[in-house]
Amino acid sequence: MNRGLGRVAIVGVGDVGSTTAYSLINAGAVREIVLTDVNRARADGERMDLEHCVPFTRPVNIEVRAVGEVERCDLVVVTAGAAQRPGESRLDLVQRNVDIFKTLFPALSRNNPDSIFLIVSNPVDIMTRAALKLSGLPPAQLFGSGTILDTARFRALISDHFNVSAANVHGHVIGEHGDSEVLVWSRARVGPFYADEYSGISGIPLADADKERIDRSVRRAAYEIIERKGSTHFAIGSACTRLVQSLQDPKGSLYSLSRRFEGIYGLDGVCMSIPTLVSRSGADRQIELALSGGERAALMESAEVLEEVWRNVTFD
Ligand code: NAD
Repeated sequence: MNRGLGRVAIVGVGDVGSTTAYSLINAGAVREIVLTDVNRARADGERMDLEHCVPFTRPVNIEVRAVGEVERCDLVVVTAGAAQRPGESRLDLVQRNVDIFKTLFPALSRNNPDSIFLIVSNPVDIMTRAALKLSGLPPAQLFGSGTILDTARFRALISDHFNVSAANVHGHVIGEHGDSEVLVWSRARVGPFYADEYSGISGIPLADADKERIDRSVRRAAYEIIERKGSTHFAIGSACTRLVQSLQDPKGSLYSLSRRFEGIYGLDGVCMSIPTLVSRSGADRQIELALSGGERAALMESAEVLEEVWRNVTFD
């Protein structure tokens, strides 16, 4: 598969979908955007507003279509569905959003057979697995945004702690995009130095209490934001745009993304995040990360949480 992502569909043009469109337009990342939403008036309103960005950006054609008329797209970003209400976990949304996906797939995948599908709707790991089942597409072609955002939050908090640019911080959050996610402290680095090593070099302590505070902030971030403003949408819009750029690049970039496990860490079937190489050919390859004993056990627990939810999802 070799692709340019000229034509991108956004399915569900609520806060996340419209922000993603806005971010893509400002980055000049695509030539055509197709918006679709059950709420046609909302999609039309977003199209009008977004079109008024175009005099300030690279040319982009924006259209609104019914979901059954979304076709020949290079990338389909799915953000349709119910969002978390204050206090609700991502897993609380599951059956509501699976029922919505049943109305979207397999028509979407049939009409866009060569498209990459990026699932953003929550709970994203379950929704990615549901979309794979409903579409029959291979996991390199259909995957979820997973813990890309949690990973960004982890990097940002380490960057604040040591007062170094986030560009110098490498670290991944793996597992469920949700309460059971795992912050991989054993591999977190500032430049070439492990975080604990950098603490010694910089003289800035990184005590267990600091790690716990960062862990809590990453894990609680969405709850805290939703409590205050109702939804999280800017950072995921930026993340989707960065992914779109990587999906046009012949060189791979590593992201924590939700992709189906096929034997990695001895797991099969579950979708969740580990570092994944993304390039023009899709989410090519998951990379097994050497983990500490505690991190590995936490990853297995995260997989079990997701398996338990999956067992209760119905497709009738
Ligand atoms: P929102 O309520 O603002 O937007 C959802 C949109 O989906 C609405 O416009 C709604 O009309 C539309 N929709 C519902 N059913 C549809 C259907 N059958 N076909 C087409 N459109 C349909 O919610 P939001 O804040 O934009 O969040 C969207 C989803 O993204 C939620 O599930 C949310 O939890 C998730 N989310 C994921 C991440 C992530 O990191 N993966 C981050 C933020 C939000």
